[in-house]
Amino acid sequence: IVSIEGGGKEEKMLVSVRLRPLNSMEIARNEFSDWECISNTTIIYRNSGADRSVMPSTYTVDRVFGCECTTMQVYEEAAKEVVLSVVHGVNSSVFAYGQTSSGKTYTMNGITECSVADIYDYIERHEEREFVLKFSAIEIYNETVRDLLGTDIIPLRVRDDPERGTIVEKLREETVRDEDHLKTLLSFCQAQRKIGETCLNEMSSRSHQILRLTIESCVRRFSGKDSFSSLSASVNFIDLAGSERLSHALSDGTRLKEGCHINRSLLTLGTVIRKLSKGRNGHIPYRDSKLTRILQSSLRGNARTAIICTISPAQSHIEQSKNTLLFATRAR
Ligand code: ADP
Ligand code: MG
Repeated sequence: IVSIEGGGKEEKMLVSVRLRPLNSMEIARNEFSDWECISNTTIIYRNSGADRSVMPSTYTVDRVFGCECTTMQVYEEAAKEVVLSVVHGVNSSVFAYGQTSSGKTYTMNGITECSVADIYDYIERHEEREFVLKFSAIEIYNETVRDLLGTDIIPLRVRDDPERGTIVEKLREETVRDEDHLKTLLSFCQAQRKIGETCLNEMSSRSHQILRLTIESCVRRFSGKDSFSSLSASVNFIDLAGSERLSHALSDGTRLKEGCHINRSLLTLGTVIRKLSKGRNGHIPYRDSKLTRILQSSLRGNARTAIICTISPAQSHIEQSKNTLLFATRAR
């Protein structure tokens, strides 16, 4: 397996694709997978069946993961380096993008778990530094922001602060005591999202979840020559809303008319990411959505970003899978 770090090049935007296995329902429907990962970076749709309406196609990204790959593997090769840059004072974000049921939450929960273990492992191996971790979590649904650490569903205001940049007003921020405390906070957020799911069926597929871990550190005894005496950065784990409505909107050209049904944040995120990966000159429309406004400081400058695009292997999902792969190839 080729390492994505090969050649020592540090990609600012690392784009991967993960193909999930067929589930038992799909197998029961006699669905089959016509996808094949032919290398570490290329996935092809063979279309060996009789469906002549869909063309065979090849997609190349930074890394592809077939259905046999574990989440640990995805983490190691597509997210770890980006996540761990946070302990060196570099902001980072990991996104899961894809249609509903393609494996976003499965992948993102696993990656968050692996990240927490690695971050605490790093902290334990660096006793010369003192670390302070802070955790916050939000959900964005229809451009409304809510605190996932609270049990009330009061919408939070997003505003620009002259000193701190874009902030979410009254957002709870927990100081993390230890690894177990962080795990408890993560399960609380997962439970909160589950409640949202049952209250409002569409909520989970149409909302974005951002988990943010801020890590501050300083040397315990200042030796006088260490220039990195104190560091601060955040890592964001973002489980995006299902991309199905977005693709539908784009292919239909009904984007403006049906504005309220379409996820503006997801649309803007695509534009922002494409602009960022093409270089940093010119206007980047961070302010066009809550998601990109809130993430602005985590995406710009020397920040690192990993995007994991998840696809379903099922024939019935072919259009959505192709749209997701198009997003992935354009994001690079
Ligand atoms: P999404 O968040 O994109 O809607 P989920 O993560 O909830 O999708 O995944 C849908 C279902 O498929 C879940 O039951 C999940 O456990 C399962 N699943 C997703 N990805 C994988 C995978 N790589 N391996 C095994 N099961 C998976
Ligand atoms: Mg999900």
